[in-house]
Amino acid sequence: MKKNKISKNWINRQRRDHYVRQSVVEGYNSRAVYKLKEIDEKFKIFKNGNSIIDLGAAPGSWSQYVVKKFKNMKVLSIDLLNFDKIENIYQLQGDFTDDMSKKKIKDYFSSKVDVVISDMAVNTTGNKNLDSINTSELCIEAMNFSKEILKEEGIFVSKIFMGSTFNEIILASKKLFKENKVFKPAASRKESKESFIICKYLR
Ligand code: SAM
Repeated sequence: MKKNKISKNWINRQRRDHYVRQSVVEGYNSRAVYKLKEIDEKFKIFKNGNSIIDLGAAPGSWSQYVVKKFKNMKVLSIDLLNFDKIENIYQLQGDFTDDMSKKKIKDYFSSKVDVVISDMAVNTTGNKNLDSINTSELCIEAMNFSKEILKEEGIFVSKIFMGSTFNEIILASKKLFKENKVFKPAASRKESKESFIICKYLR
């Protein structure tokens, strides 16, 4: 399919999508917020006073959700992309996988944190298997970082793609966390291989 046909299809789909309309009405930067909302309502992720790291945060709806829901949160968001300033959030632009970014994150929180959320996804190549492998690598990297920075009772939530690397991710999560669940929110498009892993309590 030609590129301008793909973007026309994308625009039409966005117009029809009720999550997109709802996000505009409620003042969120992306429909992705409703995925996190469902995850939070089902798995009770956040509590007032939490410290939170949001990986792959742009354009920022997950961070917005956290600071709208609770008054007293310490949130750091990082993305490769620059995105508009969100009140009460410390925003970093950079590649999360760089050691320098990880150091900046650790320096910002003087102690361990309560929750790491990651919606990181690589730019799609058109090859679904390759996209899934690349995004899985980001998930594993975020999980390993969580091991270093989460409190023992901490929570890790990450986007995953169902595919050849699924078993590897589950195995890695079971090594690091006592509780592991996989969940696809209704707001995640049916045709997408996207799902989420929710891990609690470090081993
Ligand atoms: N959760 C976001 C929201 O609610 O607005 C949407 C996130 S979007 C699906 C995925 C993001 O991951 C992109 O903005 C992309 O730039 C970011 N990303 C991908 N690889 C990254 C990396 N290595 N470091 C930081 N951000 C990354």
